[in-house]
Amino acid sequence: MKRKVIIIGSGPAGLTAAIYSARANLEPLVFEGSQPGGQLTITTDVENYPGFPDGIMGPEMMDEFRKQAQRFGAECIFKTVDKVDFSKQPYSVWVNDEEYSAEAIIISTGASARLLGLQSETELMGHGVSACATCDGFFFKEKKVLVVGGGDSAMEEATFLTKFASEVVLVHRREEFRASKIMVDRALSNPKISVEYNSTVEDIRGSMESGVTAVLLKDTKTGDVREMACEGVFMAIGHLPNTQLFNGSLNMDDQGYIITQSDSTHTSLEGVFACGDVQDHVYRQAVTAAGTGCMAALDAERWLEQ
Ligand code: NAP
Repeated sequence: MKRKVIIIGSGPAGLTAAIYSARANLEPLVFEGSQPGGQLTITTDVENYPGFPDGIMGPEMMDEFRKQAQRFGAECIFKTVDKVDFSKQPYSVWVNDEEYSAEAIIISTGASARLLGLQSETELMGHGVSACATCDGFFFKEKKVLVVGGGDSAMEEATFLTKFASEVVLVHRREEFRASKIMVDRALSNPKISVEYNSTVEDIRGSMESGVTAVLLKDTKTGDVREMACEGVFMAIGHLPNTQLFNGSLNMDDQGYIITQSDSTHTSLEGVFACGDVQDHVYRQAVTAAGTGCMAALDAERWLEQ
């Protein structure tokens, strides 16, 4: 059945686009993807979303977003789109061999954790290496763990991990943190957290059986490499946009983020709109993602009317 609007992705951007397009009677179909609710479902307290003075848990907030969209007729399905064809109208998307088509497409596939690219990191992922403290922190009770990165995520993850770990070492490649002052202050005032500045992780030692046993840390100033014993390594070095699906179909920047026209969510293709982290490498907040989700639904509605 041909739809008016298909939304690919279900974080704050996609589900806000769903609320607005459902309220405009566009009966959107939302593909929730491999992480329904998006990145907020692997976080704990959301303290900076307006309207929640006491904070709200990330997964709970996304359930509320979804309920609100469904209340106005959005259809949310827990499937992952694996192919698209934007070469002709209506546009088509596939889940395996099931084809769905729509006049307008809203892309809100977000971003995923960036990794260092070490072979040992891939091998030990889930065996002591993690990119999500809130998902895996529980497994590191009374253990010494490392958090790699110097942004807000690294501060947040390090602080969160002190609930479980006996010791948390932040490993940052520079001397200054990129993170906001309030997040740095909170992390550094925690007695369980220490920092290795000017350091990079060169390799991770361990096995799938034993888990992580140590890392090799390189001093970026002297080049010296030393071993530090630890039982967990958490990557918090930023994110990469989830745009592989759209390679060759849409204009992207050199980092792979979808380019949208200024002050709108229009992509390089008529009738295809992008919102949230998939097109924003500057703000990347739940509230800005929701804002652009609203814009995408309004842009799609106006485009369909024309
Ligand atoms: P980010 O701000 O891009 O920081 C990434 C950090 O990882 C940087 O310190 C960077 O070092 C380091 N890094 C990147 N690649 C590396 C590599 N290959 N090896 C070693 N280190 C590497 O990413 P983020 O912390 O995930 O934050 C993303 C956005 O979400 C930000 O806008 C942030 O404000 C927001 N956020 C907000 C909250 C909150 O308010 N509660 C929580 C989490 C995230 P350099 O500094 O040297 O580049």
